[in-house]
Amino acid sequence: MSSNQQALRELPSVETLAQSLSKESILPRALITAFVQREIGQFRKQILAGECPQRAEIEASVRDHLQAFGSSRLQPVINATGVVIHTNLGRSPLGTQTAEALNRIATGYCNLEFNLADGKRGKRAGYLETALASILETEAATAVNNCAAALVITLRHLCKGSKNEVIVSRGELVEIGGGFRIPEILETSGAKLVEVGATNKTHLDDYAKAITPQTAMILKVHRSNFYIGGFTDDPSITELAELAHAHALPLVEDIGSGALMNTDDLAPIEHEPRPQDSLAQGVDLVCFSGDKLLGGPQSGIIAGKSALIEGIKKEPFFRAVRCDKIILAVLQECIDTYLQTKAEKSTDMIPALDFIGTDVSKLQARAEKFIEHVPQSLRDQFLINPTVARTGGGTMPKSEIPSVAICIAPANQSVNQLATRLRTGSPAVVGTVVDNALHLDLRTVFEHQDDTLREAVIKAMTQ
Ligand SMILES: *Cc1c(COP(=O)(O)O)cnc(C)c1O
Repeated sequence: MSSNQQALRELPSVETLAQSLSKESILPRALITAFVQREIGQFRKQILAGECPQRAEIEASVRDHLQAFGSSRLQPVINATGVVIHTNLGRSPLGTQTAEALNRIATGYCNLEFNLADGKRGKRAGYLETALASILETEAATAVNNCAAALVITLRHLCKGSKNEVIVSRGELVEIGGGFRIPEILETSGAKLVEVGATNKTHLDDYAKAITPQTAMILKVHRSNFYIGGFTDDPSITELAELAHAHALPLVEDIGSGALMNTDDLAPIEHEPRPQDSLAQGVDLVCFSGDKLLGGPQSGIIAGKSALIEGIKKEPFFRAVRCDKIILAVLQECIDTYLQTKAEKSTDMIPALDFIGTDVSKLQARAEKFIEHVPQSLRDQFLINPTVARTGGGTMPKSEIPSVAICIAPANQSVNQLATRLRTGSPAVVGTVVDNALHLDLRTVFEHQDDTLREAVIKAMTQ
């Protein structure tokens, strides 16, 4: 028998290996079997190609790969990065009350498109649209799946045929991340980009000179995730609105994050524009995300002139980007929270705002309590240090919110090993490695998670 055949015979049986792995994994058994089958198949190919992997090596490799695959399953994560709106960790968490509303709607039937008053077919999102228009103090509003979709549908509606030129300042041709680039979004929407001004300065006159019979609209884009300093200039929204309206053109603003309340009051952070302010200054339509500073579900809100909103909703493409009942239920609850509590108090109900506004002395007290409960034998590996947290999510790039980190310099393993153990543990914990220590910023950790976090850390340090 050739060594090849011998090695093939010694390959572990898919059934036996799957059986043993299913004892240590929460994945469905059928998925584990399919996964093991594919992995063993790879080893079979290697053997046929003349390689000679050992059985123990094969089993360990399959186990590792299965663990890595299992950890890709969507699961809760303790965010100890200090980045409040962390795009990779799901942006804004929902408040408990908001999530309860979701549960009520999602687990039963609801009046999604049914008018309970007359028993006939009803208008989808009618209540939400009125509530949004009310909080934004504007004529009309609607919601779609995300802010990118909000901008695309707005562009598609306003750019028709040869009247498709969209004027944008060169200082605002932003890339938001995750493949969202203003020039490309314009192109996919059938719009023709007309760039004006320079990177640092664009004057009103630059916009004025670019207006032609083909101009469909003027677009203003918020520089969400970057800033330019030094000699800069931009016309005000009021000036731009006057210019646009003098030529019977709409002025649209992509504002990105959509802080409904004045976030300057929460922490020493730079001013984030509010959609209601833009509308009051003469913008015809604003688009913004529901899950950045608003703290709702991922969604895109479009608000402003009712004739434009009506037109957008009649676009055939609207059907492809409209929200389902789950998003509508959550967004409705979230907007009601703002309407009921008016600005200041809403921070209690909206975790992202609560995190931004938490006083640093409160975080310091939590850190001290955290360390007090660490076993004496480990305590000298812990330190409490001041740090800076960020709003993240492409908002307020300059802001540095004073915060507190628990810093761990592990004695019996490398800091990267500790970070990996915490990331792949249950619950998963994500911190930041800085030099030779793991930093756990408490600003983005829910207070009710403190004990769980400490247990996870102790386990990862002692296992
Ligand atoms: C974040 C952002 C977007 C994209 O929002 P999504 O909800 O992720 O689609 C668009 N424009 C600006 C200015 C943004 O900041």
